[in-house]
Amino acid sequence: MAERLNGKRCLVTGAAQGIGLAIAHAFAREGARVLATDIRLEALRAAGLPDGIRLERLDVTDALAAGEVVTKAGRTDVLVNCAGYVGVGDLLACTEQDLRRSLEINVLSVFNLSRAVLPGMIENGGGHIINIASVVSTTKTAPNRFAYASTKAAVLAMTRCIALDYVGKGIRCNSISPGTVDTPSLHERIAAGADPERLREQMIARQPMGRFGAAAEIAEAAVFLASDEARFMTGADLVIDGGMSL
Ligand code: NAD
Repeated sequence: MAERLNGKRCLVTGAAQGIGLAIAHAFAREGARVLATDIRLEALRAAGLPDGIRLERLDVTDALAAGEVVTKAGRTDVLVNCAGYVGVGDLLACTEQDLRRSLEINVLSVFNLSRAVLPGMIENGGGHIINIASVVSTTKTAPNRFAYASTKAAVLAMTRCIALDYVGKGIRCNSISPGTVDTPSLHERIAAGADPERLREQMIARQPMGRFGAAAEIAEAAVFLASDEARFMTGADLVIDGGMSL
């Protein structure tokens, strides 16, 4: 089967683990030239990505650093904004600090990276931005996810704004909204619960398919969106949630 991303230069944020790591693997398999970034360079180096993938430390909340990494990359055809943070708690439990952290990692990140790549993409005649949102947004919500759902709702809105404003410049912008996916941060959230086993069962029960998603299942959707097969798609949100939002 032909490689679907042959030669495309793809920048992935939050690529040291979970969904970002799976996307970096899948993009490389499909022939992309991947630049994998994460705030934790050591974790990125230890993540087992194939040789040939470039690794860079990048804190997505730092606009200056984003500009430097993008300039150094030379050309970006596809940007995947994957780095994210799950703030836990309802409105009264959510501290201002936690809301600010959620805004910075989930929202400012998309702003910083998209602004960094767009001028080059426009100059090159096109490009594609994929934002990893969540069904926990305006699509659906979950208990104790005030900051998370609010900021992921902003990601959905940013996706549509970018898609509309730059559609005439060859830019596509789409989002993916996963349900609950089996990643290291999910394990941490479960372990931090008062009764981890019960919490795990509750989280599985809210997915009608009766299981967590796999990071590789989200990565396949990112490959499709980044490929030319999705060339008529922009402003769309791909929900991949085992039925959670039904
Ligand atoms: P994760 O939490 O397991 O990994 C996130 C990665 O982002 C880590 O490697 C971390 O080092 C990196 N990161 C954190 N802050 C950063 C920063 N400031 N700059 C750069 N990198 C930073 O992630 P995951 O569970 O695979 O989730 C990835 C994305 O998918 C997130 O945006 C998340 O909100 C979204 N999502 C996840 C799930 C899920 O159930 N896992 C569900 C829906 C949406």
